[in-house]
Amino acid sequence: MLTQNLGYPRIGSQRQLKKACEQYWAGKISLGELKETARQIKETNWLTQLDAGIDLIPCNDFSFYDHVLDTSLMLGVIPQRYTPVLSQVKANQEIDLYFAMARGYQKDGLDITAMEMTKWLDTNYHYIVPEFTAKQEFKLFNENVFGEYASAKKLLGQKAKPVLVGPVSYLLLGKEKEEGFERVDLIKKLVPVYIEIINRLKQLGAEWIQLDEPCLALDLTAKEKEAFEWAYRSITNRVSGVKLLVATYFEALLDNTQLAVNLPVAALHIDLVRAPEQLDEVLKLIPDNLQLSLGVVDGRNVWKNDYERSLSLINKAVEKLGANRIIIAPSCSLLHSPIDLDGETAIDPEIKNWMAFAKQKLTEVSELKQIIAGNKQLLDANKNAIESRRTSRKAHKQAVKDRAAALTNADVTRNNAFSARQQLQRVRFNLPAFPTTTIGSFPQTDDIRQLRAHLKKGDLTLEQYEKQIEQATIDAIRWQEEIGLDVLVHGEFERNDMVEYFGEQLDGFLFTKNGWVQSYGSRCVKPPVIYGDVSRPKDMTVRWTQFAAAQTNLPMKGMLTGPVTILQWSFVRDDQPRDVTTNQIALAIRDEVLALEAAGIGIIQIDEAAIREGLPLRTAKRPYYLDWAVKAFHITANGVKDETQIHTHMCYSEFNNIIEHIAAMDADVITIETSRSQMELLQAFAQFEYPNEIGPGVYDIHSPRVPTTQEMASLLAKAAELLPVQHLWVNPDCGLKTRKWPETKAALINMVAAAKHAREQL
Ligand code: GLN
Ligand code: ZN
Repeated sequence: MLTQNLGYPRIGSQRQLKKACEQYWAGKISLGELKETARQIKETNWLTQLDAGIDLIPCNDFSFYDHVLDTSLMLGVIPQRYTPVLSQVKANQEIDLYFAMARGYQKDGLDITAMEMTKWLDTNYHYIVPEFTAKQEFKLFNENVFGEYASAKKLLGQKAKPVLVGPVSYLLLGKEKEEGFERVDLIKKLVPVYIEIINRLKQLGAEWIQLDEPCLALDLTAKEKEAFEWAYRSITNRVSGVKLLVATYFEALLDNTQLAVNLPVAALHIDLVRAPEQLDEVLKLIPDNLQLSLGVVDGRNVWKNDYERSLSLINKAVEKLGANRIIIAPSCSLLHSPIDLDGETAIDPEIKNWMAFAKQKLTEVSELKQIIAGNKQLLDANKNAIESRRTSRKAHKQAVKDRAAALTNADVTRNNAFSARQQLQRVRFNLPAFPTTTIGSFPQTDDIRQLRAHLKKGDLTLEQYEKQIEQATIDAIRWQEEIGLDVLVHGEFERNDMVEYFGEQLDGFLFTKNGWVQSYGSRCVKPPVIYGDVSRPKDMTVRWTQFAAAQTNLPMKGMLTGPVTILQWSFVRDDQPRDVTTNQIALAIRDEVLALEAAGIGIIQIDEAAIREGLPLRTAKRPYYLDWAVKAFHITANGVKDETQIHTHMCYSEFNNIIEHIAAMDADVITIETSRSQMELLQAFAQFEYPNEIGPGVYDIHSPRVPTTQEMASLLAKAAELLPVQHLWVNPDCGLKTRKWPETKAALINMVAAAKHAREQL
């Protein structure tokens, strides 16, 4: 029996890579210094894995920005617009081309846009989307992979296992940049380059090579399935003497099981954390010669492995296949876990004993192997930790569980239908046609961030801090009044982040010191950890919202983060279903909604920025998710009176297949991101005859560019062609916290003018 790891975090335990990259981009350190940082991180990672007793240790899993972009560079998939960069970058500075593809290039008279970035399957990691053309050629362009393997081999010997993005997933995760071809058809041209790479790795001494094919766990067309068969048959026909391991993760193989187990490779990796139920089917269909890698340790969460549960899966597989055909592994690359729990000195020791980060997970993989070999002590220690977590009063609050269990239909339905509510709300707020508002946050300037830092350090008293936040809020309100916005916001100056702010005030959450996970490039996030039943000990936003409301006669919108978004952007409990946790959060936010209403706040926005990204990868699993996600929104929102207006806001608004569920949320007003698509995303709402009010974003907040009144007026005119004018609101695409004041002011002044213009057309 072997143990393996599929990938290790590459940002460094102190985010060294982030810092080094940013300094390199700013011209503050040399390429040599950047590479030295990388070398140290890789070496530390390899030694950590070696120490943990892992038999097959990944290399080439390191990346300066993104491993899919590395693959594009390796295969020579360089969009044409970078050709001028190619000739400008100095010899041996291919990395500058690489960073140009990742981040765009504005230098030496060139202005070239970056490649598109999107989420890596259902994770919060973003990869750079490969761009393909009809005449796409592939060739071995960047040869880093061989150097990576050579240095790993020096340190690890035969344990070094190069990792590549598999050829079919590489194509499927990319995008056609012109019409007239299907990217999956490029497989014929692509595979020869893979053969060349694999053969060279073999010549250098590689015994195992891992090919990541996460798309094997997605819905596949017949043609895509054929591509898998063809690709791996062609590869095995042309290489020998090296073992190929195909890795799948994040979902069950389901209808692709037959296909996956029959690929002519040495081993298949399956994710038994996300989909333990697939083991039976895989064992039933597996041919005699295939080795099976069991992903039993969760690569995407922070919890200690339940050894008994893992052992029961491993033993089942051993019984059928024999121990020598089994490999034990984390469920997926540990890229998605924080690095080291040891440094977390502030976490309650009782709770810390339930947790494991990347480094600890490797030990778990290795301990599972030792337990199979007869080490009973390791199992007992683990049992104690699992038992402590299962019964701890810190995690389990009977009253919270009871309340969620007692939810009835009456709790989740509003008193009256939208049309009746709309009447009452019209009378109450008396807003003009095309009412104007913003999504919540105003620029988080350095000054504002500094205030929080000073408060944390103790340089400011709470009173001093609040005085200054109050002043920022007052200024923002005065200014919103001056430019003529209709529904105001308080600006969210008191909030660090839309999830963290609530997590810090809710029971059942904890925060790490250094639990960073790469989000994209040098960007890292530090998600809160939900460790126990969630409840709301006291009001969270009433103080600031009420303060703001008292400064103006105009309506002040209360601002909350919705339960699905809080769940999506946190590490969640794995000891109960996600929907149970969500319902607890929903009840806590519901109480906040009701507290705001009682404090006289008439308009309350519940942001569900992440509802779309929680969508399961497999279509078959979507209805169930959408059902509970929408219900959670109902729990949160539907306790209010008819005349209280509920808003929701969502980013990334590709709602085509889920529009009926968005409508079922029944928010009185929804604001969405539409400007970059020139209102195209509104089509789904138009076709569905979306019944409630809607604010399609009229300007892109991701760019400092100030849109003209004319531009926004014409977007509004477009929206008015698609939807009833009396349902339309006017607002930016999203919150303005990442913007600076000058552009924010200029853009909003123009936006108000555009709304006035639209009113005059009525
Ligand atoms: N209210 C939040 C803000 O304005 C919403 C942010 C978001 O949707 N990501 O910042
Ligand atoms: Zn948004």
